[in-house]
Amino acid sequence: MAFVGVDLGGTQLRVAVADDRGNLRTVVRRATEAARGRDHVIKRIVDAVKEAVEEDGTPPRRVRALGIGLPGPVDPAAGLVISPGNLPGFRNVPLNRILTRATGIPSFLHHDAHLAALGEHRRGAARGASEMIYVTVSTGIGAGILLGGELYAGAHGIAGEVGHIVLKPDGPLCTCGQRGDLESIASGTGIARAARELAPGTPGSALHGLEHPQAEDVVRAARAGDELATAILENAGTYLGIAMGTLVNLFNPQLIVLGGSVIKAGNFLLGPMRRSMNVSSWKAARRGLRIVRPALGDDVGLIGAVEYARLRARHARLA
Ligand SMILES: [Zn+2]
Repeated sequence: MAFVGVDLGGTQLRVAVADDRGNLRTVVRRATEAARGRDHVIKRIVDAVKEAVEEDGTPPRRVRALGIGLPGPVDPAAGLVISPGNLPGFRNVPLNRILTRATGIPSFLHHDAHLAALGEHRRGAARGASEMIYVTVSTGIGAGILLGGELYAGAHGIAGEVGHIVLKPDGPLCTCGQRGDLESIASGTGIARAARELAPGTPGSALHGLEHPQAEDVVRAARAGDELATAILENAGTYLGIAMGTLVNLFNPQLIVLGGSVIKAGNFLLGPMRRSMNVSSWKAARRGLRIVRPALGDDVGLIGAVEYARLRARHARLA
């Protein structure tokens, strides 16, 4: 028996074939070519799946299930891609049905951050933690929640959108249309925007005069002792901590897996985050709480998608 995992991002498409214990065996990578539209992207997924299965040498009828993670919003229960911002043309697409028909493999979609949470829970840093939250802070901010060892997706798959909790109603505009939500302040995009807005008025800063300062420039400048850069990361960390404190009070997790490129800012971000988390949550809710780094690296999306395929196949057998 084998399983297929698909990790579909706005720029990269990756497909893995795994053995019946979930170990990745064959991995195929492609550019998503999202700008060429929905039908083109779907064809690329189907072709990549067929190629991966063939390369793996597994007879197609031995593939039990396919799991696919993609950016939200998606509705896993309905098998529907609702309208991911970075996949133009995908609007209310019944992807489970389309992929099942085109590949002959029972296919199940889910939000990529939720599948990353599942992957870390089953095979990574969160093994044994039945109440856990996975938070990723990079270009955007996403999260996946596991309660009682099970993924919690909410009524329509939207649970875990921690990046779009509004913390500062008069704050910057987010791509989602809200003002001052966590993503608009603490994501890589939010940090870069703060640098862009504040650097021109701060002539002494290393960021002053940079044409398009990015989050990495801010981190580098902070490491070199730049005051403005340090203040921008402190602000981002403080708001991240408020959101984390909210999660802690809501869900009382035993473990938070905190990853994403922005976390590489280290203590410039994490120090203020811990301080504000501790004043934004109850001590009783934080008892025994551990915050750890992810363990699965770049493969987290693929591993999560494979684990989801295994989970759905097992449920189908019981039904
Ligand atoms: Zn937003």
